[in-house]
Amino acid sequence: MAEKQIKAVKGVKDILPADAGLWREVERRARTQFARFGFKEIVLPIFEKTEVFVKGVGEETDIVQKEMYTFEDRGGESLTLRPEGTASCVRAFIEHSMFHPPGTITKLYYFGPMFRRERPQAGRFRQFYQIGAELFGATEPEADAEAIHLLWLFIQSINIKGPRLYLNSLGCDVCRPPFRAALVDFLTARKERLCETCQGRYERNPLRVFDCKAHGCQQVMAEAPTIDKHYCPDCEAHLARVKKGLAALAIPYELNPRMVRGLDYYNRTVFEVTAEGLGSQNSIAGGGRYDDLIKNSGGPAVPAIGFALGVERLLESIGAPLDFPPGHPDVFIVYMEAAADAVFGIAGRLRQKGIAVEKAFKPASLKNQMGRADKSGARFALIVGEEELATGVAILKDLKNSTQQPVPLAAIDEALAGLLTAGTE
Ligand SMILES: [Zn+2]
Ligand SMILES: [Zn+2]
Repeated sequence: MAEKQIKAVKGVKDILPADAGLWREVERRARTQFARFGFKEIVLPIFEKTEVFVKGVGEETDIVQKEMYTFEDRGGESLTLRPEGTASCVRAFIEHSMFHPPGTITKLYYFGPMFRRERPQAGRFRQFYQIGAELFGATEPEADAEAIHLLWLFIQSINIKGPRLYLNSLGCDVCRPPFRAALVDFLTARKERLCETCQGRYERNPLRVFDCKAHGCQQVMAEAPTIDKHYCPDCEAHLARVKKGLAALAIPYELNPRMVRGLDYYNRTVFEVTAEGLGSQNSIAGGGRYDDLIKNSGGPAVPAIGFALGVERLLESIGAPLDFPPGHPDVFIVYMEAAADAVFGIAGRLRQKGIAVEKAFKPASLKNQMGRADKSGARFALIVGEEELATGVAILKDLKNSTQQPVPLAAIDEALAGLLTAGTE
């Protein structure tokens, strides 16, 4: 009986060579923007102690309650595959005392897979890739505006279709409690209209009801009090300066006082970017300020702001195709069986010199190999037939211009190196 074919886990996908180039190009363009703003890369572990996320993401969030891949390792320790990057970044920031000396500004970015056991649906994966950035040490609203500017420039640089930026402030310890109380009063009076989940959580976390997709909850929330009527003078001033910064940078935005973001730790500035053509789940990036998370995670009182983008959704939202070098071989060696040993050595030498070489392991007809050389996108074909082997002079064909020249096999390295540098001015 034939064995059953093993397939990838549900909600997880392969990034095949035909697509990987675009992935790397998106990453490369992100790095370009991060460098402009002085951000440095941090490479974080894929798994952490579970408490890093329970504390860092928030016990009340869907991520922690329903979506984490948590397991006990063989030593009995509870570990979790990271569902997001900020909690790990904060853990590393504290562990490596990056806050020294006081007043230090630390700007970090990261790339990589995240893991959430979400309900399978279009465009949602259980292993998905994020690009994230965190800026530690600044309370100034200009830091918020710069973080949004960085995000916006990156979005522009990869031709995202119809991006829209939404902005809100969630207030602070002074103005949020009275707002929360007003919201709880409002919801208590309308409790029967809320979904079961929201009935269970609205007293502990009334803001979460803004995110609920249930029809009844959405109807109720359309009339709910919003935070913007409750800002304290400091939050009012902070938001005004963020808006002033965005205006100075000519970044278009819309205020949305109902946007609370799915995480517990945000305060003041939160933002989200949506794109066209993604249906109702159209958010491609989001972030906000989290001034208390580092202190609450056992570190010093260092303010922070950050954002993250989902790479799969970015790729779905790219409009005009991105132009990038496709990674062709420099030279394709077309040869006769009799020249196999000589060609094996030549290919090795060329590769050692940094030249990208493609060739067959077992050569087919010259015509067949020439066809493959054309298809490969190689700049040159090096032809070593019986005659070339006998005379020691090969034919180097420029596949772009269809010109060709004789080149002694012994001098092929220099000839190719010279032609390739000349061709890339
Ligand atoms: Zn406030
Ligand atoms: Zn609900």
